[in-house]
Amino acid sequence: MQLHEAQCLDSAYACQVYTRTPLLITRGAGMYVWDDQDRQYLDFCSGGRAVNALGHCHPVVVAAIQEQAATLLHTSNDFYTVPQARLMELLASHCACRRVFLCNSGAEANEAALKLARKYGTRKAAERWEVITAQQSFHGRTFGAMTATGQPKYQQGFGPLVPGFRYVPFNDLPAMAEAITTHTCAVMLEPVQGESGGYPATPEYLQGVRRLCDDAGALLIMDEVQTGLGRTGRLFAYEHADIKPDIVTIAKALGGGVPIGAMLATEEVAQAFAPGDHASTFGGSALVAAAAYVAVSTIIDECLPAHAAEIGHYLAARCADLQTAHPVVTGYRVVGCMAAIDLAAPIAPDVKSYALEHGVIIQTVGTQMIRLLPALICERVQVDRLIEVLDAGIHAARQRPAAQPSSAGIDPQ
Ligand code: PLP
Repeated sequence: MQLHEAQCLDSAYACQVYTRTPLLITRGAGMYVWDDQDRQYLDFCSGGRAVNALGHCHPVVVAAIQEQAATLLHTSNDFYTVPQARLMELLASHCACRRVFLCNSGAEANEAALKLARKYGTRKAAERWEVITAQQSFHGRTFGAMTATGQPKYQQGFGPLVPGFRYVPFNDLPAMAEAITTHTCAVMLEPVQGESGGYPATPEYLQGVRRLCDDAGALLIMDEVQTGLGRTGRLFAYEHADIKPDIVTIAKALGGGVPIGAMLATEEVAQAFAPGDHASTFGGSALVAAAAYVAVSTIIDECLPAHAAEIGHYLAARCADLQTAHPVVTGYRVVGCMAAIDLAAPIAPDVKSYALEHGVIIQTVGTQMIRLLPALICERVQVDRLIEVLDAGIHAARQRPAAQPSSAGIDPQ
């Protein structure tokens, strides 16, 4: 099948919720993917949205999937399985939260976290059910996660939303102090706001929020769906602030490319869930748990968080070069393998299209921000190629007469 046929089938049959880039990806390996014409692309988005932390089709993950597929694909959570038991032990031994609930996605992990926080809170006091999240946050598309998301654009048309949510400005401790009351059961935050442009919470802010939660008897939930498992240079991004959350959610990198999510909670908090309170048919099935086990083991054994930190330093230095060369680059943020570049003009879609034409896949946020989420295995030479293409792409976009950017260059959020 070629791109045109895939586009025709998509437009005939798919719910039109995605604005797709005109690229039919047929295979991937490491930092690269190939299209239907066998053209190679350097993938600076880890398979779209920070999923393939080990790169595409990591041999260890592929082998684990093949072996598990021939052994046991799925059985219900009424039974025990070896891959699931091993995965939970591995996650618990590296996280501040040691009770694990396995599910299928980031949104589901957040739903589990929100339900657990409400159950825990209302067991302490009937009125303790409010959740505080940050403006510009992103927590997923299901009703609870969408309501938790502090961006009205994701909620429009879907009301009424879930009651009991309140939003505060990010990195604003006095605003958080004012918002937390005896009704607050939890504060849910991303350590780095990914979807909205890679804005990190300061360590002081997270430490302050931890203190406020402790004083008020509220739980601190860290949504590490995007930051978790090495992307920011530590296995969990909360480690940068030297705090311990009560609940952590992860997904994306967890499966090495297959769909799996997890909510981890402290022993005390997890006790609020009784048998039957929550469940997932597919959650942590044997196949995905086997893949996740080797994916997480590889991230840890090969010290990929440290490598991500090192690559992040190099990427930041090269972004500085880009800024020196182009006054239109007004700033950049780099935390490990999570980066964003701010532009003073609406040229991001043009730069994205240029990069694609020259074999590099990047993302945009709106029209004035470039977003980069390379795999943790990224090397300096690949950063150099990225910067070379961005340099030429920005130059070309500045030469072009102002025109409507093509929708192909704009990423849906
Ligand atoms: N939380 C964060 C911080 C995310 O970045 C995302 C997805 O981008 C989600 C939750 C939702 O994850 P999923 O798309 O797997 O449901």
